[in-house]
Amino acid sequence: MKTAIKLVLFFIFYTNASFSQLIIDKKEGFAIMRKSSYKFPKFFREFQYINKTESRIKGFNFFRDNNAGSPAKASKDGIIHLNVSFFENTPVDYEDNRLVVVLYHELGHLYYFTNNTNDNNREDNEKFAFEFSLKRTKNLALFGDCQPLKTGLKYMQQRSLSNDLQDQHVRALKRMMNGPIVKSYLSFVEQNCH
Ligand SMILES: [Zn+2]
Repeated sequence: MKTAIKLVLFFIFYTNASFSQLIIDKKEGFAIMRKSSYKFPKFFREFQYINKTESRIKGFNFFRDNNAGSPAKASKDGIIHLNVSFFENTPVDYEDNRLVVVLYHELGHLYYFTNNTNDNNREDNEKFAFEFSLKRTKNLALFGDCQPLKTGLKYMQQRSLSNDLQDQHVRALKRMMNGPIVKSYLSFVEQNCH
């Protein structure tokens, strides 16, 4: 009897834990991306583009986390993991341009992993990923669309003001925001984006 109760409790807790981040079948994940492409046309365009052109990407995985969490993450095995909740029930402060920035941030992590195989400095990794997203969204700006770059700079600025120093993103941003690299992007926007 006791074992049965333990077993029931185990399943309740175990299944709760796994429900908060539900892994989604790849086919379904790609279908969700396609379906949401009318809401996120730039994201979908860049998603398809990097999927075809970036050899560092070994694949995409999809999961649903209705507690929101973050829209994406990257892992050392070359996989970008996308949280489909952000495409189905998009939080108010997320939209197409911001998701493009997130996508390039994650691709930046994949570049960091392959260039720094022995280095596990998470703060440097975040800094690299943020700078990478600025570089790639500047390319989009050079082709006439400044919005992703401007949006990236805006949210980086905002997040750099956070007091959460446990967060590697925040620590990286505090190092970056007054540095020459971010300044060069800000002045690029000032001169080229209206
Ligand atoms: Zn990151």
